Amino acid sequence: MDFSWNNEQIEYKNKVIDFARNNFSESYIENDSQSIFSKEDWKKCASFGLQGLATPALYGGYKEKVDILSATLAMEGLGYACKDNGLPFALNAQMWTVQFPILQFGTEKQKKKFLPKLCSGELIGCHALTEPNAGSDVYSMETTAEKVDGGYILNGTKQYVTFAPIGDVILVFVKTNPKVGKWGISAFLAEKGMKGFTSGPNRPKMGLRTVPFGDLYFENCFIPEDNLLGKEGAGWAITNSSLEHDRCTILAGQLGTMQRQLEETISFVKNRKQFGKPVSSFQAVSHRIANMKLRLETSRLLLYKVAWLKSQGQSSMMESAMLKLQLSESFIESSLDAIRNHGGHGYLSEFEVERNLRDSVGGVIYAGTSDIQRNIIAKLLGL
Ligand SMILES: Cc1cc2nc3c(=O)[nH]c(=O)nc-3n(C[C@H](O)[C@H](O)[C@H](O)COP(=O)(O)OP(=O)(O)OC[C@H]3O[C@@H](n4cnc5c(N)ncnc54)[C@H](O)[C@@H]3O)c2cc1C
Repeated sequence: MDFSWNNEQIEYKNKVIDFARNNFSESYIENDSQSIFSKEDWKKCASFGLQGLATPALYGGYKEKVDILSATLAMEGLGYACKDNGLPFALNAQMWTVQFPILQFGTEKQKKKFLPKLCSGELIGCHALTEPNAGSDVYSMETTAEKVDGGYILNGTKQYVTFAPIGDVILVFVKTNPKVGKWGISAFLAEKGMKGFTSGPNRPKMGLRTVPFGDLYFENCFIPEDNLLGKEGAGWAITNSSLEHDRCTILAGQLGTMQRQLEETISFVKNRKQFGKPVSSFQAVSHRIANMKLRLETSRLLLYKVAWLKSQGQSSMMESAMLKLQLSESFIESSLDAIRNHGGHGYLSEFEVERNLRDSVGGVIYAGTSDIQRNIIAKLLGL
């Protein structure tokens, strides 16, 4: 087995690290406390080509073909160097759950209409699945689309959607044939400004506060036939594919953050002295560091394996569920260990250690909770 990255991949990761170090201002601290999204940083990422990593050059993307392995490594680099954890999260959400499904399932017209503007930062995309009565049980969704002349009439509410308050293009999943359950789900590309479509305000949340989040409302909203993504009834296949990608690449940024967190914690415990010696000399402290390293490397192996499977065009249902479970739970545990090792310094907002813990918690909820990932693993084991 060969786990090495080629020079081009490593060079690009290093370029992303330099880009993140040199381009983002300290305003993310204020943005986190005030729940402000930086459109300026989003545009900078687009100019650098990050959104384009999930799209081929033909539609405004970075390379001739999407290279998932390189994109995963680049996003790891971004998470490592960008202290605003919301930014890599939001980039990945748009890239893999909006751009990629459009690329995979869209018509030529849809790809040309939406992808270049999503890559350039002109448009922001959302993936709207969750509803007030359909969270983990997502296929029990109640939003419907009724066929009419030239299009469909949508009715229903989506909630907890990343970017909902400012999204321009919404990949929304609805039932076109409620009688056949998940086989009756279809996907549409709703657009800001369509009559009958509105979005709610930003809903304050525990972490990832630099990314707006909220609800979407469809009230007799007419969507033209041209905005149906894939065929009628293809929604289930589209969500399966996008969630599988989501569970892989969305977490690459967090892996980079865990690397940074480990390095910062090691540096702190080596310098902080108590009882006349560095606190790193106490086994209780160094064992927490050892656990952080173990979580980081086990998560890394799973991430790289899933990215490799995806790059080979192989299904990775089981591996993606294991990765999502392992990495998201590990990030919480390691964030808590980082705080313990920093003592009071870790607990105070001004030192920026506690923010990782707040940002990590969403990871065990979005794209399927940890319980749901365990259900998937158990089911695939025949239980
Ligand atoms: C930061 C963040 C970003 C998000 N972004 C988006 C987005 O962009 N688009 C979108 O559509 N949604 C998004 N979501 C919503 C997210 O996908 C849902 O919150 C998630 O699927 C869980 O649904 P729920 O909140 O309704 O919880 P529920 O499904 O009500 O779950 C409540 C509890 O019951 C458990 N549970 C439920 N069913 C089972 C079961 N069968 N077996 C075992 N335990 C079970 C859950 O694990 C959980 O502990 C986001 C959420 C967060 C936190």
